[in-house]
Amino acid sequence: MFPVNDSDTRPLTIDQCIVPCKMNNLKANLQNVCSRIDFACKEAGRQVSEIVVVAVSKKHPAEPIRQLYHLGQSAFGENYVQEALAKQKLLQDIDIEWHFIGPLQSNKTQEVAHHFHWVQSADRKKILKRLSDQRPATLPDLNVCIQVNIDREEQKSGVLPEHLMEMAHYAQGLDKLHLRGLMAIPQQATAGHDSSDSYQRMRELFDTLNASGLTLDTLSMGMSGDLESAIMKGSTMVRVGTDLLGQRY
Ligand SMILES: *Cc1c(COP(=O)(O)O)cnc(C)c1O
Repeated sequence: MFPVNDSDTRPLTIDQCIVPCKMNNLKANLQNVCSRIDFACKEAGRQVSEIVVVAVSKKHPAEPIRQLYHLGQSAFGENYVQEALAKQKLLQDIDIEWHFIGPLQSNKTQEVAHHFHWVQSADRKKILKRLSDQRPATLPDLNVCIQVNIDREEQKSGVLPEHLMEMAHYAQGLDKLHLRGLMAIPQQATAGHDSSDSYQRMRELFDTLNASGLTLDTLSMGMSGDLESAIMKGSTMVRVGTDLLGQRY
C-alpha cells in the first residue's frame, strides 16, 4: 500500500507508521543513536548511564512518538506549545516525560507550567518567575534548565554568560522550580568555529555555578550532528531529533 524504500528518510506520517515494517526504521534509529552514545562514552571514559536522551519530536506526528516510547524512549522534547498540547492529548495514555525546548514567550508560560515536566529554554527572570507562580501546587516542581547564548548570537535565545550566575541563583530561589542545569545550542560549526569549543565553555560555566553553591546535575547539549563532541565535553543530556525521527519539513 505504501512505497517501501529503506533509504527514504522522509518523516513518517501517521498512516505510514501503522505499517509494521516502518517500525524497523525507528528501532534502527534508536539503536544507532544508542551505539553512538556508547562509543562516545567509551572515548570520554564515561558511563552510558550518565547520558539522558531526549527525543526531539517537533513537527512529527503523535504516532511515531508512541512507537519510540514503546521501544523504550521516554523523554520527548517539543518546541511549539500548541503543537505539543495537541500531541500530548493523543498520547495521554502513556507516561511520557515532556520537555519544552523552544523559545518561550510570557503569554505561553501558563500552558507550559501546566503541561510539561521540564523547561530547558528559560532565559529571563520574568519567564522563570511566571513558570514558578503558574506551576500548579498539585504538581511536582518544574524542572528547569537555563538556556545560555554561548556564542553570543544576535538572533538566538538564551542568557549571555556574564548574566548567568545571577539568573541561576534567582531561579534557585523560586518556589515551584527545581533548577537542574543549563542548555545550549551552539553556533553551527563553520570555518574558524568549532562547537566543541562552545561545549567546553558551557562545561566551565556549569562547573563555576556548582562551585558557587548550586547543585546542578544537567548539562543539556548535543544534537543529531554533534552529540559525540558534546559528550566529550561533559554533556549529560542530548537532544536528538533528525537522527531518531527523520527529517522535518
Ligand atoms: C530541533 C532541536 C533539536 C534537535 O535537532 P536535530 O539536529 O534534529 O537533532 C535539539 N535541540 C533543540 C533546542 C531543537 O530546537
